[in-house]
Amino acid sequence: MLFQEPLGEPYESMSVDELDERIRACKSALGERVVILGHHYQQDDVIRYADFAGDSLRLSRLAGEQTGAEFIVFCGVHFMAESADILTSDSQTVILPDLSAGCSMADMADAADVQTCLDELSALIDGVGTIVPVTYVNSTAAVKAVTGRNGGACCTSGNCRAVLAWALRSGDQDGAGHAKVLAVPDQHLVRATALDMGYSLADCVVYRPHLPNGGLTADQVRLATFVLWDGCCSVHQEFTVEHVTQRRREYPGIRVIVHPECEISVVQAADMHGSTEQIIRTISDAPPASKWAVGTEINLVNRLACKHTDKLVVNLSSHQCLCTTMYRIDPQHLCWVLENLRAGRIVNRITVDPAVKCDARIALDRMVGHKGAVTATSTAK
Ligand code: SF4
Repeated sequence: MLFQEPLGEPYESMSVDELDERIRACKSALGERVVILGHHYQQDDVIRYADFAGDSLRLSRLAGEQTGAEFIVFCGVHFMAESADILTSDSQTVILPDLSAGCSMADMADAADVQTCLDELSALIDGVGTIVPVTYVNSTAAVKAVTGRNGGACCTSGNCRAVLAWALRSGDQDGAGHAKVLAVPDQHLVRATALDMGYSLADCVVYRPHLPNGGLTADQVRLATFVLWDGCCSVHQEFTVEHVTQRRREYPGIRVIVHPECEISVVQAADMHGSTEQIIRTISDAPPASKWAVGTEINLVNRLACKHTDKLVVNLSSHQCLCTTMYRIDPQHLCWVLENLRAGRIVNRITVDPAVKCDARIALDRMVGHKGAVTATSTAK
């Protein structure tokens, strides 16, 4: 995880109005040379300056499409800026306004450990079947490269089901049905998606990277279809079944929709689950006067509540489930990177090593080729 020193003056004491004036002046001076991408979890004070807002999949696609822009300022977290660097041309520069904006989930999987895991799993199945890595886009470029090098693909929460189906097909070369998926680094997304696909909890086992063979026996791996890395999102794991029960008690008739990075017990207790874009679409399409409790990052929930005043939209938890690393991107850092660009200086450039880039690109290209459903999935009861 990278760390960036505080900006200091004059940025830290600038008023909201002064920051606004200076950011807009930079955008106007730089014109089409710069594109600002903003993730849905960003605070309103940042997202208002984004040329495009979206989730990881949409922003990955958009980054690759910005062929006319010299600079991509990515208001997200480090792994997203790395993906943008991989998907843009060598003549384009990707900038992350605060290098401390990392992701706790991405930090849970190290590339060397993932390669060790693949080697261990292959030895355990002893040539019967294939292990295909499917890596959530919330991962380092180095882990994506291991994935591409080993015949796998990246996925997002929006297209996870399509990528898992592809992985099982591509690994099942002899038609004997022995293909297995190694899912890295989030266990919850793939477990929930496996259940959506008709698999059971017994088809999933958890690989714990600090234990020999991940703590698994050969029989456990042979019987499983999904081997799940022991990783999670520190934000979404905060939601509990008690939160679901409490909201239903407080608001009779409320519908509960959660992100699949939540624990499986929460996903199963909810009415629906889906990616960020699917949650947005589901609430947008819902009838007036409908009531929704949303289990995802608080900035997005608050934005949905403000936008859909004809519906009731509340956070699933009474606590603020905030992505604190995403929150490090603020107007001060955005102003600082833009003013440097305007002065001809590039700060906080994110570059991925060319060898890593090449293999990671294979995994990302496979991801971008798989579309996801538009709206969220109803939870089977
Ligand atoms: S919400 Fe979770 S997975 Fe997303 S960037 Fe924050 S810590 Fe990472």
